[in-house]
Amino acid sequence: MPHSSPGWVIDAQGVCPLAEQMPSPNQDARPPHTLVDLIVIHNISLPPGQFGGEYVADLFLNRLDYQAHPYFAALRTLRVSAHFFLSRQGRLFQFVATENRAWHAGVSDFMGRAACNDFSVGIELEGTDDTAFTPAQYDGLALLTVALCRRYRIAGITGHQQIAPARKTDPGARFDWVRYERQYRQQMDMPKPDTPKPFPVFYSGTLPRAGA
Ligand SMILES: [Zn+2]
Repeated sequence: MPHSSPGWVIDAQGVCPLAEQMPSPNQDARPPHTLVDLIVIHNISLPPGQFGGEYVADLFLNRLDYQAHPYFAALRTLRVSAHFFLSRQGRLFQFVATENRAWHAGVSDFMGRAACNDFSVGIELEGTDDTAFTPAQYDGLALLTVALCRRYRIAGITGHQQIAPARKTDPGARFDWVRYERQYRQQMDMPKPDTPKPFPVFYSGTLPRAGA
């Protein structure tokens, strides 16, 4: 992983300048005075297991050719997005500025707080629940995590399956939380004046409710 990583920042508008910007219409304002304090990890590929195409971007931009694959017909009414998408090669795409609300989590609950879209940043990894993710994805995810921690007071990081366990299975068992945590903590250990404090990761089974 590069030790100096220019461009891995989130600016005041919530834009990461090194990401390819593809603004999605599937976004709106966060509720007033919302503190962004959660990162949610997902995986997606369209059709599932097929990597490298434009279909995920097309879905987030409401321009998917629903005839192109039988799987796509069921997606016709979906209006979804994520803030970021990391390709298998580690290319970063941004669909929603982090100051705005992306539509990635749906009905969800993080330790007793519902509607996680309100207060979270959603990161999609190109992949499936049963395919290992790539080193480039872990590298990019670690750098993006640290960039987010320098912009927001992140209090936790979790997976979609943890905050919507009855509906969702991503990022799945092949996502290596231990590796991810090690890598972003290594980045945070670098001696920089704005190095954020480490924060907890919540990924073991269903989350405890606040106060439980
Ligand atoms: Zn998801």
